[in-house]
Amino acid sequence: MEFVNEIFLKQKAFFNNGKTKEYHYRIENLKKLKAIIKKYEDEILDTLNTELRKPHSESYQTELGVTYEEINITIKNLAKWMKPKRVRTPITHFGASSTIYSDPYGVSLIIAPWNYPIQLSFAPLIGAIAGGNCAILKPSELTPNISSLLKKIINEVFEEDYIAVIEGGVEISTELLQKRFDNIFFTGSVPVGKIVMEAAAKHLTPLTLELGGKSPAIVDQTANIDLAAKRIVWGKFTNAGQTCIAPDYLLVHKSVKEELLDKMNHYIEVFYGEKPLESNRYASIVTERHANRLASFIEEAHIVRGGAYDIENRYIEPTIIDQVSLSDGIMNEEIFGPILPIFEFDQLNESVEFIKQFEKPLALYLFSNDRSVQEQIMKNITFGGGCINDTLMHIASAHLPFGGVGQSGLGSYHGKASFEAFTHQKSVVRQTTLFDLPLRYPNSKNGISII
Ligand code: NAD
Repeated sequence: MEFVNEIFLKQKAFFNNGKTKEYHYRIENLKKLKAIIKKYEDEILDTLNTELRKPHSESYQTELGVTYEEINITIKNLAKWMKPKRVRTPITHFGASSTIYSDPYGVSLIIAPWNYPIQLSFAPLIGAIAGGNCAILKPSELTPNISSLLKKIINEVFEEDYIAVIEGGVEISTELLQKRFDNIFFTGSVPVGKIVMEAAAKHLTPLTLELGGKSPAIVDQTANIDLAAKRIVWGKFTNAGQTCIAPDYLLVHKSVKEELLDKMNHYIEVFYGEKPLESNRYASIVTERHANRLASFIEEAHIVRGGAYDIENRYIEPTIIDQVSLSDGIMNEEIFGPILPIFEFDQLNESVEFIKQFEKPLALYLFSNDRSVQEQIMKNITFGGGCINDTLMHIASAHLPFGGVGQSGLGSYHGKASFEAFTHQKSVVRQTTLFDLPLRYPNSKNGISII
């Protein structure tokens, strides 16, 4: 493990020489990153396809497209974001001015998961570079081909004293977490998020946690049922349900349940054909272990649609289940796969109460054309972010900070929020020396110096 320490110390030294803080250095490296991703575009798409069976078009949209958008917005706005911001000064500080400086943290650790291994490695890395930091990226061991491709790409353009990729699993992660990083950015599961936060607490290291959880979708009787079905099917079964913000379960008004189910069936077939397990538009499950976990949920369930699986090839059919009880295993963890439990409600409030039994979700999706219902849900449920009459799309906007709340995460990123996640807001009062008001001093009475 000595090499981990060596890279870490090299990065500390490199950060201290101040180069990473310069605007031109940051821009030049963001451009280099964009160019190298472009160069390896085909290899990235092919590796995502061989390792996770992600269809090329889906990978382009959810991995590369989002990454390019993040780089472009950052290059365009970095000068503005970096500029020290003058803010108002209270009258009690007469003669002074107030400025906020965005200060790079230093050496950052980025730990990434496997489900969108390109986007979830590069998006935080863009924030780290934009913020003027050095960074060590630790991708997931569950997608080793993608992780070594990430290493190859990064090594080709960056010296490891600036940006480095360290591959490995829990052991390497644990070793890295013992180091005194200046900032940690973690994307992954809630249990590992707690381990990361505990490690950060030892050094009081600031951190961002992008975690998961059970994200609900609600469909009421005023919704456009056809569009709701189409967008839920897309949001749930993209990447075979292995999306942190995929709808985990569905709450539907009882009067539209049958219609919604019919339409969802229809769109599953439109998107993935009659035999999704043979479709080249449908992703596989990451490992056999994960496929077995999902199959065990199916075995216990009342299946409304789908239910077939092929563990050896790591395929689980798009599956909808009902008659689910809260004590069932599937309702006691994040599903993270293509199985959608459906619950019905009569009064909207029942769905609000239902959702509140769980931890604050990372995402929430409401399908309703009733403004007052939209307002009621926004007002009464705390969640990381989400959509009204859509799914997933909020994550793909660099203008919206993305993150969870409570157990679904801490802090946010994307666009300007990424820059902020990797910088400290240093507040400074610049006082005049031309005069000195006596008010605050112990030797003043009624604002007049008495000595
Ligand atoms: P994970 O928590 O198992 O692993 C994430 C990373 O942590 C990996 O790099 C892994 O090597 C490392 N790790 C695993 N165990 C560790 C330990 N004991 N100590 C230190 N590091 C450890 O998550 P995953 O299976 O890769 O990804 C799926 C989870 O990530 C889901 O819960 C999903 O909701 C969440 N996720 C969240 C977001 C988001 O943006 N909020 C995005 C994608 C995935």
